[in-house]
Amino acid sequence: MNAIPEVLSSHTCELGEGPVWDAGNNRLYWVDILNGILHWHNFSDHTNEALAIGQKIGSVALAGDGRLVAALETGFYFINIHQKCVSAIVTTEKEIEGNRFNDGKCDPAGRFWAGSMSMGDEPHAGKLYMLNTEHQVKERIADVGCSNGLAWSADFSTFYFIDSLSSEVVAYDYDMPSGEISNRRVIIRFTPEEGIPDGMTIDSEGALWIALWNGWRVNRYSPHDGKLLDQILLPVSLVTSCTFGGQDLTDLYITSAKTGLSDADLQMQPLAGSLFVVKNCGYKGELPFAFKE
Ligand code: CA
Repeated sequence: MNAIPEVLSSHTCELGEGPVWDAGNNRLYWVDILNGILHWHNFSDHTNEALAIGQKIGSVALAGDGRLVAALETGFYFINIHQKCVSAIVTTEKEIEGNRFNDGKCDPAGRFWAGSMSMGDEPHAGKLYMLNTEHQVKERIADVGCSNGLAWSADFSTFYFIDSLSSEVVAYDYDMPSGEISNRRVIIRFTPEEGIPDGMTIDSEGALWIALWNGWRVNRYSPHDGKLLDQILLPVSLVTSCTFGGQDLTDLYITSAKTGLSDADLQMQPLAGSLFVVKNCGYKGELPFAFKE
């Protein structure tokens, strides 16, 4: 693929992450986790807006009534971008001072799944949780190093998950009515040279798109045999996440980071932290699921 990533927003995030396509509002959300800022781009008039959240913001997903559901530093919240307010749903990890929430996404039944991680180097300190439609939190995976990419297969039978510290993508059988997962198996393993698997999305053919931290690219894989099918090279090393969007869901939006890069690194990759788009990338995605109550 001769994909040319363009810069959609030249604002450089410290840790840009979690792109979410909002078809109803013709808008793309993304977050700067470490600065606690929610960003969005309005495609109707090509403006960028931002909202300071007041704590670290791991991820957001669409919810009803013009709201977003969010995984912030201490737990689950609603964000209302019109009223510019944040309200707690459940502060699941408020007592765990060294942790923060990270990547999250809604499942096909409208529950919000998000995981946590240690802000230090505490191994296995994180967990993956599921906030159900009654606002109860259920633990889904324990002993997670750095909870990251999530995706569900189009037939809703399989859940894919990345714990970045394991350098693996795992698959589970997913039971949509209960939200239970079982039958864990490793489907892709990464070498240190390839980078660290971070955010993930799935396309209409069921292939997994994985952003590679320190890998300068997004790779497309078969979930059946783990085979590398395609790749998009980026002019930045810390590629964090990706999602499909645009009118036909054929544009791929890609977030990146600059945190921890040296001055010399930043001279080599001045676009680090930017939001990129590969228009008409040759593949089609799925609409994101929204939170239901
Ligand atoms: Ca991430």
